[in-house]
Amino acid sequence: MDQHIEELSIALNDSGTESLLKDPDTSLCDSTEAEDKDESIRSSHIFGSSSSLAEDKTLPAVDKSPLNPKSPGGSFDPHGLSEKYVGIVTLPNQVQQKAVKKGFVFNLMVVGESGLGKSTLVNSLFLTNLYMDRYMPDVSEKIARTVSITKSTLDIVEEGVNLRLTVIDTPGFGDALNNHESWKAAVHYVDQEMEKYRRNEIGMNRKDITDNRVHCCLYFISPHGHGLKQIDVNFMKALDQKVNIVPVLAKADSLTPKETCNIKAKLLTEIDKFRIRVFQVPECDPDNEDLFKQQTLEIKRSMPFAVIGSNTVVERNGRRVRARVYPWGTVEVENPSHSDFVHLRNMLIRTHMQDLIHTTHHVLYENYRINCLCRNPILENV
Ligand code: GDP
Repeated sequence: MDQHIEELSIALNDSGTESLLKDPDTSLCDSTEAEDKDESIRSSHIFGSSSSLAEDKTLPAVDKSPLNPKSPGGSFDPHGLSEKYVGIVTLPNQVQQKAVKKGFVFNLMVVGESGLGKSTLVNSLFLTNLYMDRYMPDVSEKIARTVSITKSTLDIVEEGVNLRLTVIDTPGFGDALNNHESWKAAVHYVDQEMEKYRRNEIGMNRKDITDNRVHCCLYFISPHGHGLKQIDVNFMKALDQKVNIVPVLAKADSLTPKETCNIKAKLLTEIDKFRIRVFQVPECDPDNEDLFKQQTLEIKRSMPFAVIGSNTVVERNGRRVRARVYPWGTVEVENPSHSDFVHLRNMLIRTHMQDLIHTTHHVLYENYRINCLCRNPILENV
């Protein structure tokens, strides 16, 4: 398949913790990644990150210094623990310290027809501008177009916690006259990254394997399609065993609340009818905090998320918020009574990012690895 991969690398540092990125011990890059970068980095941007929106956000109360977290015993000093502790209470701290030092990686694929608001939503989710240099083809180009894959990487640092986010876009999806095989480029990409990871795992140097596997695919559904189109079914069926699919109903502000409700119900029925496996938020444990249980419940109720994105920031009651301004009123992106944006962001970033990564590694990748072993048992043992 004629596949074209472009990569755009962006560093977004929003606190004085650049040293985390520069320290070779804590660097998120390894040799594999470096090779990938050499291959295809198209351009690089540095943002001074103090986006006013980021400042406006009410962040959950977190320890100011995640590298020195407090233990459940109340003190990080292992010698200062009271006599009733052997010291295993410090184990969560030890794990947290290592994880924070290493940094986190999250790879998000966005798929859907052009113009459904994919780039705007990603920018709204991560308070950035990932698509500054985007090339917009004209109609005649679109008709003859094949689906390509582009990658944009963004380093986000928040209170000493470092996330390397890669957004994989699929420009051209659904644009051509014949979209019969629009899903192929995405399947090829997902398989290719699984295979790279598998080869790294069985290779000689397993020390710093970079995870480029797709952890989540946001699939955008048109608000004007009255349910799933053939292309939607084809895509989701082709990928649902390979990646966590999260369907979203795009541009929800073009629907009335009643229409949104009806379309959501229809989408759920069709997802069930076509036996499409979409990402399911795991059940809460009884000992989870009430707030977490409440958020999880709201996330479950909101699926498939009806979302609104915007790059416009307006002043509302003394706060700067992303919104879409119409003659009849203003639609606020983060207002839960206007859209499910907040629930989607909570799930993707604040409550279930680790579940998406965990499912990718322990379920989807395991299936892929086992299939490979079953296909070629002799070679695998050599
Ligand atoms: P993409 O091609 O899927 O990446 O779509 P874009 O993000 O470039 O958005 C295409 C157009 O739709 C732009 O004019 C956006 O301002 C607009 N748009 C994006 N999100 C929304 C939304 O939630 N509602 C409405 N009404 N328009 C949107």
